[in-house]
Amino acid sequence: MPNDKNINMTNTTLPKQTDVVIIGGGIVGVSAAWHLAVAGYRVTLCEKGIIGGEQTGRNWGWCRKTLRDPMEIPLMQQSAQDWQDKKVFGNLETGYRTTGIVYFSGRQRGDTEHYVNWLSSIRDFGLDSHMITASEVDQLIPGGTNLPRDGALFTPSDGCAEPSRAASVICTAAADAGAKIFENTAVRGLERHAGQVREVVTEKGAIRCDAVVLAGGAWSRLFAGQEGINLPALNVMGSAMRTLPFPNGPNISVAGRRFGWRKRADGGYIVSQADATIFDIVPDSFRLVWAFRPQLLQGLRQLRLRFGAAFFHELKRARKWALDETTPFELERIANPAPAQAVLEEAAERLKKAFPVFDQIQIAHRWGGLIDVTPDALPLIGTSASVPSLIFATGFSGHGFGLGPGGGRLAAELVMGGSTCVDPSPFAPARFGL
Ligand SMILES: Cc1cc2nc3c(=O)[nH]c(=O)nc-3n(C[C@H](O)[C@H](O)[C@H](O)COP(=O)(O)OP(=O)(O)OC[C@H]3O[C@@H](n4cnc5c(N)ncnc54)[C@H](O)[C@@H]3O)c2cc1C
Repeated sequence: MPNDKNINMTNTTLPKQTDVVIIGGGIVGVSAAWHLAVAGYRVTLCEKGIIGGEQTGRNWGWCRKTLRDPMEIPLMQQSAQDWQDKKVFGNLETGYRTTGIVYFSGRQRGDTEHYVNWLSSIRDFGLDSHMITASEVDQLIPGGTNLPRDGALFTPSDGCAEPSRAASVICTAAADAGAKIFENTAVRGLERHAGQVREVVTEKGAIRCDAVVLAGGAWSRLFAGQEGINLPALNVMGSAMRTLPFPNGPNISVAGRRFGWRKRADGGYIVSQADATIFDIVPDSFRLVWAFRPQLLQGLRQLRLRFGAAFFHELKRARKWALDETTPFELERIANPAPAQAVLEEAAERLKKAFPVFDQIQIAHRWGGLIDVTPDALPLIGTSASVPSLIFATGFSGHGFGLGPGGGRLAAELVMGGSTCVDPSPFAPARFGL
């Protein structure tokens, strides 16, 4: 899972002063750190656990344009370019490669119509996404026993990268460009003066700075709450597993009916189900029910509601603290939820039936991961209205690994001022009154 590459961290003492503090060492935080460091900014990145230890190290690794909200497509096109551009991350060992991604029809009721509508909504972006027939699916992925009768949605230029190493190699490149990286360093809160952030207070001391990027993933809402900001994001839980390598498996990534896969660089596979997220009912679910009403109604058939330990875990967690107190960020260095075993078992069974080449799979590891979701499932990237030197780069809503390089770039550009790679308005905090 996270970090099969070592990060070159030569810093042991926090700087007293820096230009920008980045909170969070996931794909978004490390990408922002790289851009800022390369542009000559003094950057300090604080990660409460380890680089890539949460969502970024636990995801499937898909870098897709397929089925994205059209408002997100330009940022995803920028990200796809950054993953591959040798002047950005293309020379790093992120494992990025073009494999193509296929979404079978028949995964859910009405999905073929949904695919066709999506294709017409993205016509202006020049994507290579298109519908293919069942016999074309068979040519692409031979050996299937139960191919989708209505064919599939296919994007040949979609790709993947390796979650276990992408963040750490980008982080190392950021450190090489001068960024100071601190793991096991939770940011507890902000000291402000006349509305502006003056200092970031960490468990290891305070850092004076001009700007702060909040790239805290599933923890950003809690952090923002401490600062009096009601950031609307809920956490859901995804599960995945990794198989041992085996020969002659397909290279292409597939979302089928209750199974999905991606081939890893080592020849093993990530296997799971695309539409089997667990939605734990927690106190925040009630606080945010109004904001999430449309998404809840629309997504109920995909969400698996659960009431149990997560509710009481969150209930007991502090929501406010003094800056000299231990915070929830230190008490839970790495969120490591138990995977949904039934979801994974069903995925493995369905996969073996649909593509017998997977009969030979041996499961090496299963895990769960929290996923932060905003009410419109678009990320929140922009400057806070109430704390002008605080830039949000969070809420990537379950598809932020592929989008992370672009998200980090945009956040860095907003810190620097001047032009941005894409129109940032779809991601603006103002849409949530922030
Ligand atoms: C099972 C699963 C499958 C997924 N599949 C895909 C996929 O195939 N493709 C895709 O594009 N996306 C996928 N995603 C979503 C993707 O992983 C996330 O959207 C993306 O990684 C978010 O990156 P991030 O940097 O915003 O957050 P994270 O990677 O979660 O990083 C945030 C970091 O901030 C740190 N932090 C938080 N608060 C503090 C604090 N106060 N002080 C210091 N550090 C702090 C955390 O410890 C964490 O390491 C998947 C997610 C899961 C869980």
